[in-house]
Amino acid sequence: MTSPATTETDQAAAEHSKRVLLAAPRGYCAGVDRAVVTVEKSLDLYGPPVYVRKQIVHNKHVVATLEKRGAIFVEETDEVPEGATVIFSAHGIAPEVREQAKALSLKTIDATCPLVTKVHREATRFASDEYDILLIGHEGHEEVVGTAGEAPDNIILVQSPEHADTVEVQHPDKLVWLSQTTLSVDETMETVRRLKERFPNLQDPPSDDICYATQNRQHAVKQMAPRTDLMLVVGSRNSSNSVRLVEVALEHGARDGHLVDYADEIEDSWLDGVSTIGVTSGASVPEILVRDVLGYLAERGYADVETITAAEESLLFALPTELRRDLKARGQGDSAQVRHDAGSLH
Ligand code: SF4
Repeated sequence: MTSPATTETDQAAAEHSKRVLLAAPRGYCAGVDRAVVTVEKSLDLYGPPVYVRKQIVHNKHVVATLEKRGAIFVEETDEVPEGATVIFSAHGIAPEVREQAKALSLKTIDATCPLVTKVHREATRFASDEYDILLIGHEGHEEVVGTAGEAPDNIILVQSPEHADTVEVQHPDKLVWLSQTTLSVDETMETVRRLKERFPNLQDPPSDDICYATQNRQHAVKQMAPRTDLMLVVGSRNSSNSVRLVEVALEHGARDGHLVDYADEIEDSWLDGVSTIGVTSGASVPEILVRDVLGYLAERGYADVETITAAEESLLFALPTELRRDLKARGQGDSAQVRHDAGSLH
């Protein structure tokens, strides 16, 4: 029979071994920061309502908070009243959406991430040179719909490594691959490897399409995963880069992993027998939600937090040109860059 003293010692030892590894970088990337600030500043400048086509970024909390401030999220441009202001989300749009907005005399502000725009430009350039373009990405994701819309006759979607084994092209000797910005780096490289087995003349993109933020967040998770019993990723289910972080954690040694929007979604049973918990967040997640998760864990004995830094990030993007122009006209022209004037969602 275990003596009370031994039980207390075991419990103390278990408490002592409880700790959190916190990923850095995590959370907001430069493109999300810019998109969220674009909506906040538009609400301040033009007054509510401001319409936003699709979720500005894929995060429940961000969307709900902006809704409370007067943003109205719509699925399609034709839901916006004639002459109103509409913001295009960070994921980008197909050219036809821009044309629809023009036909409705909408005032448009384009918050497409510049790194998504870069992929659009690659697509239009290779299409004008009459390449077949293999776009690696997920069917129906807004970014893929937008990029494919730039060159619908040239782009062929490849959704997985397995799909690479069967996809057909018309011009195997004039062929390039591009990708969605938020994919798993490892899985994409496996897809490319298989494509090159079938199409040896397949060209690489001029530069990485999977963006710096996606790569850095995955890199941090890979470092932490072998040391963690449980990986908690803060993010929404429709956030591609957040979903990938859970997958990457499980592939690289985390025993268990879950995606949660809020701390109160964590189930106490997940913590059974767990000593080390990894915590990170997707690129569309405000830091306040991570702090809530750390608070929840601290209350359960996981108060010891070690930050694992995989990369330093300092990238900032200027606000969309249309908004900068209007801010300048109102004497607020020094708001060209985001992050410095962090609001409620930061
Ligand atoms: S995840 Fe990458 S591509 Fe997407 S908004 Fe952020 S920086 Fe831009």
